[in-house]
Amino acid sequence: MVVVFEATHEQLTAKYPAEVNERYPKGRKPWISSIEQYKTMYDQSINDPDTFWKERADELVEFFSPYHTVSSGTIDKGDIRWFDGGKINVSYNCVDRWAKKTPDAVAIIFEADEPGQAKYITYKELLDMVSKAAGTLRSFGLKKGDTVAIYMPMVPEAAVSMLACSRLGLVHNVVFAGFSANSLAERVNDSKATVVITADQGLRGGKVIQTKAIVDEALKSCPGVKNVLVFKRTGAQVNFQEGRDVWWDDALNQQTEFVEPVHVESEDPLFILYTSGSTGKPKGLVHTTAGYLLGAAMTSRYTFDLAQGDVFCCSADVGWITGHTYGVYGPLSLGVTTVIFESLPSYPDASRFWQTVDTHKITQFYTAPTAIRALRRLGDQFVTSNDLSTLRVIGSVGEPINPEAWCWYRTVVGKDSVSVVDTYWQTENGSHLLTPMPFATTTKPGSATFPMFGIVPAILDANSGEELTSTTAKGVLCIKRPWPSIARTILGDHQRYLATYMHAYKGYYFTGDGVLRDEEGYYWIGGRVDDVINVSGHRMSTAEIESAIIENEAVAESAVVGVSDDITGQTICAFVLLQSGLKESDEIKKSIIATVRAEIGPIATPKYLIILDDLPKTRSGKIIRRVLRKVAAGEEDQLGDLSTMSDPSILAGIVSKVHSAF
Ligand code: ATP
Ligand code: MG
Repeated sequence: MVVVFEATHEQLTAKYPAEVNERYPKGRKPWISSIEQYKTMYDQSINDPDTFWKERADELVEFFSPYHTVSSGTIDKGDIRWFDGGKINVSYNCVDRWAKKTPDAVAIIFEADEPGQAKYITYKELLDMVSKAAGTLRSFGLKKGDTVAIYMPMVPEAAVSMLACSRLGLVHNVVFAGFSANSLAERVNDSKATVVITADQGLRGGKVIQTKAIVDEALKSCPGVKNVLVFKRTGAQVNFQEGRDVWWDDALNQQTEFVEPVHVESEDPLFILYTSGSTGKPKGLVHTTAGYLLGAAMTSRYTFDLAQGDVFCCSADVGWITGHTYGVYGPLSLGVTTVIFESLPSYPDASRFWQTVDTHKITQFYTAPTAIRALRRLGDQFVTSNDLSTLRVIGSVGEPINPEAWCWYRTVVGKDSVSVVDTYWQTENGSHLLTPMPFATTTKPGSATFPMFGIVPAILDANSGEELTSTTAKGVLCIKRPWPSIARTILGDHQRYLATYMHAYKGYYFTGDGVLRDEEGYYWIGGRVDDVINVSGHRMSTAEIESAIIENEAVAESAVVGVSDDITGQTICAFVLLQSGLKESDEIKKSIIATVRAEIGPIATPKYLIILDDLPKTRSGKIIRRVLRKVAAGEEDQLGDLSTMSDPSILAGIVSKVHSAF
């Protein structure tokens, strides 16, 4: 029998005061140690933003020449600029500064796919690698403003490639190395990349991925690509096109000259990155240099209470924004050690994350609800067999985290001695929008609590667009003014940027997410606005119903969608994954329905309850409800863009289950 911790009603509804306990290092103080300090800083960030951001910039980043204007532009016009006139370089801030100050501090720990093969790279070594990689890119004739596509496994060389691009003012476009040749080709062409950095093969969960072969296939339709830089991950024999392809090691070893960081403008683009594609065709967002870097540094410091000496592990792939901001740029800009995790949480067994924490004495750990739910499903023994007492802050990002999963994370992983930070943000935002301060904010399971400095949230009525100013409010989440790390445009389509984010509600940045603000001002993300379900005039969020379902002890994961209904407008269709080892039965279904009725009320009773073996997810691990919605509506021939779905082969099974249920 699998033992899984079940939270009690008291735990699920409790408030968890922030506390500094015996795990906190002696002689150190949290960056934010009381809610009053948070409020004072937050108020300054809103009432006197230019002073606030100037002070943060002075503390956290180094400019080669000073900016003349802290910020300009508006959401309405979509012409946002930060630190205009300044000259800066991201790789200098993330590497050179620390290579001078603390050359022997570890910058990157590489936790390779096979356990026990970790590698350590100091800041001094990282600088050498970045300089040589930059020299190599320069030898291809690339110059400031050119784009480089990066299609790499989770190896340190992926981060080195990103930093090398930033060193020369090149724009990187990291494409998650799980994407097909087609999707890669589309992104390479869309961004006009002329160089691709890749590896011979990738390793994930003991499986070999033919990375270079996928690149070769993609490049058949990318005439603009002149060079491919190939890192040897496994050393396997792969196709090598003379004249176009160059081996990473050979090229870097030829570089004898130190490459100085190029002084770029604050508003020069740093990277392009596509969204996860949960709601449709991914959007290629453009992030610029100084504002993004400051957003990454500031939020990394405050959300995770990071300081030099800490060992931070963000399990997200560098192919996603979380991997960019919290795997690479944030921790390195603070001189912290970052762990690059190549493997899967389930390889060789479900204790891999926790073994990694134990081995490297990780102090802050950051992952996604999908991983937390999957690991909870497999049982507590995988966690408890490791020493996790170095952990102080554990974070979640990517989807709403159900209170049940939140409590499991805090109690089983954190032994009730850590702070849990549920961080809400998007690719478009560059860095956190809503998050607790780990040693200041009293948390509630499932709430991302309060805004980050400089963020002014607003809740709008979805239909009228009117701002709801009462403390308790439910509607769509918008942000009222620009912050430094907001994306500046959608690549090649500024009109779509304006239409999607800036003009949906005049004067507000529109997130597309539904939100509730409770009587104490806490924010609760309810999922995508499109996913709100309206039953007989009662508007319910998918997150709310899913969280009730997952409270049933048989349930591991759930996705809820609305289907149209002649009488009630919409009815609820719930898809459920059971805990490992359980079999579908009428008894289990009845008990799940009873849980929902008890938790929310009869109005939330699912009319259809369908037990599945798998849920459709994006390659970044998020549930794609639009696919389930289409299947439930009998429109499985109109599923739209499925390139971002991690395993389309599960669709047939879902369709047949739905057909027999309806
Ligand atoms: P696309 O925009 O292509 O549909 P996506 O929105 O999933 O894909 P991302 O930018 O990776 O792409 O994800 C941002 C979204 O993830 C948010 O809009 C929100 O819906 C969800 N999200 C992220 N963090 C949280 C969180 N802590 N709580 C609730 N939802 C979250
Ligand atoms: Mg989105």
